[in-house]
Amino acid sequence: MHGKKEKTARGICAILAVLIVAALGVLVTVLVRRAEPAASTAPSLSDSGESQTLPEEETPAMMNYHIDIRPYLDAIMTTDPAFLVLVNPAHSYGDTVPSDLVWADETTVYSFGRYQIEKTALEALTALCLEAESDGVRGIDITSAYRSFDKQNALFETYCDREIRENPALTRKQAEALVERYSCRPGRSEHQTGLAVDLWDKNDTSTRLEESFADTEAGLWLAENAARFGFVLRFPKEKSDVTGIDFEPWHFRFVGYEAAMAMKEKGMCLEEYIDYIAKQNS
Ligand SMILES: [Zn+2]
Repeated sequence: MHGKKEKTARGICAILAVLIVAALGVLVTVLVRRAEPAASTAPSLSDSGESQTLPEEETPAMMNYHIDIRPYLDAIMTTDPAFLVLVNPAHSYGDTVPSDLVWADETTVYSFGRYQIEKTALEALTALCLEAESDGVRGIDITSAYRSFDKQNALFETYCDREIRENPALTRKQAEALVERYSCRPGRSEHQTGLAVDLWDKNDTSTRLEESFADTEAGLWLAENAARFGFVLRFPKEKSDVTGIDFEPWHFRFVGYEAAMAMKEKGMCLEEYIDYIAKQNS
């Protein structure tokens, strides 16, 4: 009887041990599964530089970049409406000086010339240039960025003088009308916002600020990819009736990823997109 009891007790102990091991196994499996989704989502950098985890659907574009986009993601993905400011012949920026201007050559990862540009736009532009390089498109550089009211005024006057010099029969008013097709009166140029850049190919000076830039490797790459970095080709060929400005394949404007992608997909220029958004919200 005694031996039988011992055997029964040992049997119960063995069963309990098996159950405990099984329960531990289940617990470990559950904990690992719970940890897995967080580990597989793409990390993003917050303002403080800390790594955060975002649900994958919030970062759809992340997977499409060759470079490590994380340091630039906050800039590219901004939806701050301040980046949709409309400045054109009908909407003056006055002599406002934007508050977040930085020198482009202060960036340590890409060598731009000495231009001032809005801080967020510069971060996005840096990512754009690094990505272009990784695609084999080298030499994209800034040839104009922020311009003050006074500088725009001087530029406009210089262009008017040149038109009159080339055609002395023109009145001042006629010369100004000609210049307004390719430049802007002071206050009416979005270069004053620090959000616009004129880009060129350092290896091909002949296409600098020329329509032929559109057909260069850099021009083609920019037209196709700029929106992924929050930039739009501001004066497309087919929109000159709306923008009032002739085709400028070199002039890019930062608006943020969401707006840039929407404009590209819908075939809208900034004037049309702002109207579209206003109607959506009314
Ligand atoms: Zn420009």
